[in-house]
Amino acid sequence: MKSGFDAFEAVIGLEVHAQLLTRTKLFCGCPASFGNEPNTNVCPVCLGLPGSLPALNREAAGKAVLLGLALDCSISRRSVFARKNYFYPDCPKNYQISMYEKPICSGGVFRLGEEGKTIGIERIHLEEDAGKLIHGDGGSSLVDFNRCGVPLLEIVTRPDLRSGRDAAEFLSGLRRLMRYLGICDGNMEEGSIRCDVNVSIRERGSSSLGTRTEIKNLNSMKAVEAGIEFEIERQAKLISSGGVVSQVTSCWDAGMRRLVPMRSKEEEQDYRYFPEPDLPPLLIDDMTICKAVLRLQELPDPRRRRFQEEYGLSPYDSAVLTAEKGVADYFEKAATVSRNPKTICNWVMREVLGEMKRTGIPAERFPVLPESLARLVELVEEGAVSGRAATEVFLEMSATGCTAEEGIKRLGLEQISSPETLAQYVDAVVLENPDVVERYRKGEIKLLAFLVGEVMKKSEGRADPRAAGEMLAARL
Ligand code: ADP
Ligand code: MG
Ligand code: ZN
Repeated sequence: MKSGFDAFEAVIGLEVHAQLLTRTKLFCGCPASFGNEPNTNVCPVCLGLPGSLPALNREAAGKAVLLGLALDCSISRRSVFARKNYFYPDCPKNYQISMYEKPICSGGVFRLGEEGKTIGIERIHLEEDAGKLIHGDGGSSLVDFNRCGVPLLEIVTRPDLRSGRDAAEFLSGLRRLMRYLGICDGNMEEGSIRCDVNVSIRERGSSSLGTRTEIKNLNSMKAVEAGIEFEIERQAKLISSGGVVSQVTSCWDAGMRRLVPMRSKEEEQDYRYFPEPDLPPLLIDDMTICKAVLRLQELPDPRRRRFQEEYGLSPYDSAVLTAEKGVADYFEKAATVSRNPKTICNWVMREVLGEMKRTGIPAERFPVLPESLARLVELVEEGAVSGRAATEVFLEMSATGCTAEEGIKRLGLEQISSPETLAQYVDAVVLENPDVVERYRKGEIKLLAFLVGEVMKKSEGRADPRAAGEMLAARL
């Protein structure tokens, strides 16, 4: 907290909505995809037409269980869908099917950062998304129902976060975990993750909770951090000057860096929750849990630590490499067949990730197989190709899917280390640079690097620089 308000401590809890990566919606067979022509992915069920009945998409339930297990939650063997009633144009049924008293997962933990601060997970439940209102000029609005019924996970934390930074870190960790598990694409700009935050402050060291305010729709990591910091400061100023915090809900305006009030506690809606009569309770059997356990395998955090220990990588490199499962698998495959995991790490960090980013091809389908990358690195170590030329070979491999050897041949980049051929270049460079040679002989030994550079230029990068340096030194 800003200086001057040190007497206070912030208390923050998040409610995160994550769109599940399922092919179809939560209660009907409509595609759950984003970006289609408005109102094309709809049917009587997701439009709430009379007489239509929902049927649960089990894939969504399986993904909820997966996240619940990854966050050490208890999984309810029997959870209950509930109707949350409200009237708004983005919700054609006038109620949302959610879970209330019996969520699918509860009581988990999330480990934040290296110090291992733990953030309690209150609950995770399944619910359906609402449609999207597009507000035009002149007071008219359009509605797109494609998003109606898309499966969401709502993840609610305990009030264990203490700063905007904490909250942003939690959210990016959760995002990384969900992407890793393949249950959410994590695309915040497209609204795949949306976050509401609850903020209160209290005297440092106190164990009671102050009155909280809620900020809705913080839709980027930056907004989460900035909105919270803004609200903490507002409350601290208010209390310091003798005021009291009232329980309000507001919206963060990122452009203007201000909070726009939406409603106070008195205007809080009564959703009149009741068990959904059209759906049976959701039963999770042993098989669903076993399948989820098998899918969990190794999570990003332990894997990051293992990469540091097992391959001697830096914390930064390990974090980048384990951010996505595909990339982590790619690195690990190459590293295990290579003698030099650190070199493999450098190649993956620079060339491989660079090409993946440029071409948009994911690690699973990347044309340079991990084994081929390991072979290329080996050829550099053997001196068959120079490090600089290897980058070109790599690009050729990536473009055509050829092997390292084929690429080197095709581009004519075999490294020259035979003394006969090397001697021709060395002799020519010595002849062409008499004054440099003169100065070198008078003691400016640093000029050797320049002469090696000339040999490299002449050989179009193919000469073995170490052999060329040795030959030059001997010649002079
Ligand atoms: P609601 O159902 O009204 O949204 P919940 O009790 O489910 O309220 O809490 C929602 C979120 O608010 C949770 O993340 C919780 O940790 C957080 N929260 C509750 N009380 C406080 C408080 N006094 N200060 C900060 N956050 C709080
Ligand atoms: Mg709330
Ligand atoms: Zn539908």
